[in-house]
Amino acid sequence: MTATRIQRPSATATIAAGYGLRPGDVAHFQLHDVLLGVASTEYPVIAAGQVVGRRCKYTPAYAARGMKYQTLSPAPHYPLYNADALTPGCVAYLLAGEPDVWVACQAGLIPVCFLMGEGCVPALGVRLLAERRPALVVIVYDLDPAGYHGADKACHALRAAGLAAEIRTLPAWVGHKGDVADAYRGLRYDDAALRRLLDSLPRREPASPPPSVAGAWPVRGKPGAGVFARVKAQADIVRLARRLTPLHANHDESRYTGRCPFHDDHNPSFVVWPATEDRPGRFCCRPCGLQGDAIELMRLALERGL
Ligand SMILES: [Zn+2]
Repeated sequence: MTATRIQRPSATATIAAGYGLRPGDVAHFQLHDVLLGVASTEYPVIAAGQVVGRRCKYTPAYAARGMKYQTLSPAPHYPLYNADALTPGCVAYLLAGEPDVWVACQAGLIPVCFLMGEGCVPALGVRLLAERRPALVVIVYDLDPAGYHGADKACHALRAAGLAAEIRTLPAWVGHKGDVADAYRGLRYDDAALRRLLDSLPRREPASPPPSVAGAWPVRGKPGAGVFARVKAQADIVRLARRLTPLHANHDESRYTGRCPFHDDHNPSFVVWPATEDRPGRFCCRPCGLQGDAIELMRLALERGL
């Protein structure tokens, strides 16, 4: 007896169809199926012509289970996607995620996105953007409170880095949580219509600056190693982590879990192991590929303005 195999479309085909991506743009961004077959499409993160990371995006069916994106090679964790499209003097669009970048690029714009979700404004990402000297950065984030506050944060950080930046708000018809990819879909994947829409969106000023913006945090200057050792020894990683996200302890308090503060997490993916006598405390989030000790956790929180 022969088993009947049902041919399912590949993840890349599913995702490309969902965003109206044409073969040329699928090839341009090097979207391709990998190990996970029908579950996710993989693509490189490229900077200065080099592959500096690999990410994958899950199909909607898998995303519904809480897995949306995964960073496959996080070291070093490069925070700016599509950076090579930026040229001095260009008008750049800072968007909320890779699909927004794909569709806006297909429509003939110069888009980038930070790779930790729109709530995070990585200081390194801001610096990399500033180094490419765009004439103006237009921020278009999702039409929801997270997008609103994320855009404010990004705008303040970009201006603090000396860039001209403005926030534009998507129209209500994209729906709650709607983004640029939703707008493109609503415009039936019409490139010129998307360019006209984004150009004509209403501008708004950000709310008054938060007490700290990511751009203001030093990321290069390192205090002496003695300070690190002292902080590391004293830091209670569980207490630190609890400032970022609620945590639940397991039965013997050897392990704590919660929603990851660094990505849009719908599962408790974030795990913290408190220090014991023979090893320091550690944290790990598999979906975003982040892990480390208390210092690393503090560094990430500062870098992302949390
Ligand atoms: Zn995470």
